[in-house]
Amino acid sequence: MTHVSLLYHEGREGDHSESETESLEQQVVGFLGSKGISVDRSDIEACHTLPTRTKGATPVIIIRFTNRKNQISILKQGRKLKGTEVYINEHLTRRNGHSAKFGSYSLMNLESNTIMDIQLVQSNEVGGSYHMEKEGLKRCLDHLEANRFKADYIVTDRHPQIQKYLRERNITQFYDVWHFEKGLSKKLEKASHKEDILKKWLQSIKNHAYWCATSSTTGPEKVAKWTSLLNHLENVYDHEDPLFPKCLHPERASRDPNKWLQPGSVALHKAEKLLLNKRVLKDVAKLSHHHQTSSLESFHSLILRFAPKNVFFPFMGMLCRLYLASMHHNENASRVQATTSAGQAVYKVVYPKAKMGEGVVKPVKTDPTFNYVHDLMRLLMEVFEDPTSFDEEMKTPHPSRPFGRKYTHSEG
Ligand SMILES: [Zn+2]
Repeated sequence: MTHVSLLYHEGREGDHSESETESLEQQVVGFLGSKGISVDRSDIEACHTLPTRTKGATPVIIIRFTNRKNQISILKQGRKLKGTEVYINEHLTRRNGHSAKFGSYSLMNLESNTIMDIQLVQSNEVGGSYHMEKEGLKRCLDHLEANRFKADYIVTDRHPQIQKYLRERNITQFYDVWHFEKGLSKKLEKASHKEDILKKWLQSIKNHAYWCATSSTTGPEKVAKWTSLLNHLENVYDHEDPLFPKCLHPERASRDPNKWLQPGSVALHKAEKLLLNKRVLKDVAKLSHHHQTSSLESFHSLILRFAPKNVFFPFMGMLCRLYLASMHHNENASRVQATTSAGQAVYKVVYPKAKMGEGVVKPVKTDPTFNYVHDLMRLLMEVFEDPTSFDEEMKTPHPSRPFGRKYTHSEG
């Protein structure tokens, strides 16, 4: 028996390798397809198994959709699985409908790599899980503003509700390149099943997305560089747009003429439709040239160490764990590379699954410190000695100041 749970935006997982995810996703889509439930892989944002505590327990697969409408449509077709050992349900809780669902929203200062605020929102207080993300962001921004912090810009994924909200609030929004590139890559990969020639270009197109974003400062410049891609695919290096009239790389005659897309070919037509449609161009103009959210993703994996997914925590327990994770993160946000007693920098070799066994050299950082634990113990003693002076603060579970201030420079 397998439960396929559908989840829409509840934090993010950073600890599943790409290839694992890919093959699981393929299996799920293949199985559902064989039962007459067709799922477009480009609609899936993430797919992973939920860790189980007991051996032989029912395996649970979580699928997160990029769009709430797709999720509802799949849920409605659950009947088609009658007679199989597989059930589909909406993923609401960590443990069998036991309590309300939470969603956490973290706001990170990407320049200092520190968590400014983290909000835990309960779905039943905001009228359903769909509203949790926006509410989390709203509370974070309100909290910052109440402390006279002003966000110059904010880097997020392209969740439409969030776009609308930030526009209303008059805050400049940029998109994280990783989220943009991932969505586009899925569509390109799907098209490359029929148009083999596109396969050779998948990686270059990904790289191009990062390059366009980080090498530009304005939206039109990003778009000019991005649209030059289509010429490049045809072996043409001069472009119409005066903002980017010529490729910057040296012109090299490729030895393989089959590499290029032919004018008038189906492959070129498909590439144009996917790469240069209005929505993509609008997104490209807003890609972040400042920072990407990869350090926020690694903070999300740190949260999992304080609050493992397979353990149920009540609201207050979860909130405390999120605060601990934030304090730990902020205290250790700017660790430097470790050195040997002779003063030499220390590196290590790691073998990430995504690199298929290929080794990657990484600098080793100095050991993490835990001064926040001493601070908390000291505070606890103060509360024990004179609880009355903390009366006001005890009434609100939320810290009165953003995290960044206190824990960026914790005294040793
Ligand atoms: Zn080029």
